[in-house]
Amino acid sequence: MVILKTSREIAKMRHAGRISQRALQAAGKAVEPGVSTYEIDCIVREYIEKQGAAPSFLGYGGFPASACISVNNVVIHGIPSRNEILKQGDIVSIDVGAYFEGYHGDNAWTFPCGDISKEAQRLIDTTRESLFEGIRQAVAGNRIGDIGHAVQEYAEARSYSVVRKFVGHGVGAKLHEDPSVPNYGMSHMGVRLLPGMTIAIEPMINQGDFKVRILNDGWTTVTVDGKLSAHFEHTVAITPDGAVILTSAD
Ligand code: MG
Repeated sequence: MVILKTSREIAKMRHAGRISQRALQAAGKAVEPGVSTYEIDCIVREYIEKQGAAPSFLGYGGFPASACISVNNVVIHGIPSRNEILKQGDIVSIDVGAYFEGYHGDNAWTFPCGDISKEAQRLIDTTRESLFEGIRQAVAGNRIGDIGHAVQEYAEARSYSVVRKFVGHGVGAKLHEDPSVPNYGMSHMGVRLLPGMTIAIEPMINQGDFKVRILNDGWTTVTVDGKLSAHFEHTVAITPDGAVILTSAD
């Protein structure tokens, strides 16, 4: 069931969204060769807790950290570790959620570690732009399929593939609500978008094939072909005035 939010609730979600965006930016600033993914996770947790908020992912379904940090061929749900040291040329996807006064904000960004290859930069740029292509379709009267179609068309036109196994989602008092928000699909299909809907749009775009598999830890999701993957996400409200990004720093 899709839960529509009042403008008052959406205002509250902006607070949670702002905290999650600022935590994500702090994490991104820390990405450099020699830093462990554990250290970045600590930065995220400390920032969120200092704001009086809680990291949405910590303990969610048993997830052991505050941020998902997914390096190179890891698509999503990478578990931060003291033993994972970032290297020059890595691409680092960081997914952060913050829970504040009853609502979640959820966002992700892929950061370059030092100098990266042209191919890796192109994947990052395409994935980021595909997110904004999707957001542009997140207007009342459109359907969920319009978002996925826009993301898919943009990414595939640049010869990348769209992960199928994981999708975006409604977000609000719960981290994952209805509806599902696939990054693929057909325009004019699926749930109608209404003012008051709040959704996380989060394209996961692969350099090679779209197939992924989950490692034995039950979380870490990698590309089957070992090629790179990037991930960008914003929490967005559908309003009478169009899509509003709630995971905004200001
Ligand atoms: Mg999400």
